[in-house]
Amino acid sequence: MKGLGFVSTTTSNTNTGSQTDLINTDFVPADVDAGNWDVLKPYFKALRDRVINSVGDLEQWLLDRSELEASISEAGANRYIAMTCNTEDKEIEQAFLEFVENIEPKVKPEGFALDQKYVACPFRKELDQDRYQVIDRDTEAEVKLYRDENVALETELAKLDQQYNKICGAMTVEFDGEEKTMPQMATFLQKTDRAVRQSAWEGIAERRAADVEKINDIFDKMVKIRHTIAQNAGFDNYRDYMFEKMHRFDYTPADCEAFHQACEELVVPLQRKINAERKMQLDVESLRPWDLAVDVKGRDPLTPFDGADELVDGSERIFQKVDARLGNMFARLREPGCLDLDSRKGKAPGGYQYSRDRSRQPFIFMNAAGMQRDVETMLHEGGHAFHSILSETEPLLHYRHAPMEFAEVASMSMELTAHPFLTEFYSDDEAQRAVREHLEGVVNTLPWIATIDAFQHWLYTHPDHTRSEREAHWLSLLDRFGPAIDHEGYEQHRPNAWHRQLHLFGVPFYYIEYGIAQLGALQLWLQYKQDTGKAIQNYCDALALGGSKPLPQLFEAAGMKFDFGPNAVKSLIAEVENELNTLPA
Ligand SMILES: [Zn+2]
Repeated sequence: MKGLGFVSTTTSNTNTGSQTDLINTDFVPADVDAGNWDVLKPYFKALRDRVINSVGDLEQWLLDRSELEASISEAGANRYIAMTCNTEDKEIEQAFLEFVENIEPKVKPEGFALDQKYVACPFRKELDQDRYQVIDRDTEAEVKLYRDENVALETELAKLDQQYNKICGAMTVEFDGEEKTMPQMATFLQKTDRAVRQSAWEGIAERRAADVEKINDIFDKMVKIRHTIAQNAGFDNYRDYMFEKMHRFDYTPADCEAFHQACEELVVPLQRKINAERKMQLDVESLRPWDLAVDVKGRDPLTPFDGADELVDGSERIFQKVDARLGNMFARLREPGCLDLDSRKGKAPGGYQYSRDRSRQPFIFMNAAGMQRDVETMLHEGGHAFHSILSETEPLLHYRHAPMEFAEVASMSMELTAHPFLTEFYSDDEAQRAVREHLEGVVNTLPWIATIDAFQHWLYTHPDHTRSEREAHWLSLLDRFGPAIDHEGYEQHRPNAWHRQLHLFGVPFYYIEYGIAQLGALQLWLQYKQDTGKAIQNYCDALALGGSKPLPQLFEAAGMKFDFGPNAVKSLIAEVENELNTLPA
């Protein structure tokens, strides 16, 4: 039914969040109890059984399916949000587990049956390519890659990942006469007393070393299972399988290799230069692994705000100054039920933005404790919320979420465009220090992303590797991308240092997205320096597209190049270096 229309999202860039024009069909009532399988089942059956007689019928079917899935997604979101805000409430926990254990496993095969119905539908070929290209290729991949025999293997992998998480979660270190968790230990690496940092680093490394064998056992099994999954689906190796599985239709392993090369040639030298300056400022003979997190001038950490109200007020002032359109969208988050920011007992760790897919209400969760990192998180999650708000009139759920490679441009670019306005939280000197720390973080992160990504490419294109071959390859990557610090006397901790990167275990291949997005964010930052209004217009135009276009078009809509090889990286890194040169050391 064309009448329901596909709002032109390209022109909705001035939309600052009126919810009155949201498009719903009347297939699923807005107040449906989507956490109840008995309620959901008839809707799935209706979609499965519906006779599709025209391309218009198919479009309507897609909208109705979208509405059902948005309702289910929101039911899950509300339970997840409640659980992370109140981890000690048994009833809330039970409601969340009930959803994960009883609803999701039933929804998944139903969704797959609908994917199959869609792919088999003869009217599919009549759909407008420009509008449906992305959902079409994504759904086709789901059906093409599915194998019954892989379901049990995926379960096996999930169990192995659980074992890995359990081993890591149980790691503690006796330090200062107390038992400390690994995150607690990491805070000692910022201490100005070098001996304290060294013994904290040694404590962490030795504790990790104690579980090297166990973790290698788990990983060996994972590589084998993943290779089998790929072969079952007709692929030579798991890398090529995962590129399709992750819907990476717009870039190839060769593009990733170009990114690795760009990091090696252009970012690593700057990182090593920054570390050479760090060594001079710390006035040490050689830079050791425990010298990387401390402030080079021995200053206390920045303390930008006290309490969530100050964080929200300051962030809103920043967004107003970056551009009033952003400030106005951010103000919408003050509506009840959109924010839970202060750290408190009984809250889950971390931070996230969740868009509730049916009502289109964004939600931001974090554990603010008055640190600069919290300001960065607020700006970052604010960018994700803008994405949710700007794409909320998109009727297809599939298109209200952009792929990670672009979704993180929306968030990371806000950390950068905010730089000139950090004085809302700081004196001029402190703001410059915060900007320096942030930019150095960008320089340090890109080579690490290249390291992890290159490692994964090698692991899965050499599925029969031995442990010692794996260690040797990892060390060769550290030579290529590492920050060149002095490990003398601690070499034994290097060959398995990748064990701490949980993505390798739980979400393989998921990592380069951050690198691709960071390069997009840097491009927006440069645009913003030249023409603030135009840059934010581009930003809003591209975010309004949600995930409805292939990645190169999303980048293009934002006035960016979708290119992560040396040519593209060169000018971006030169600008970062220029900016660092203007800041006091
Ligand atoms: Zn993010």
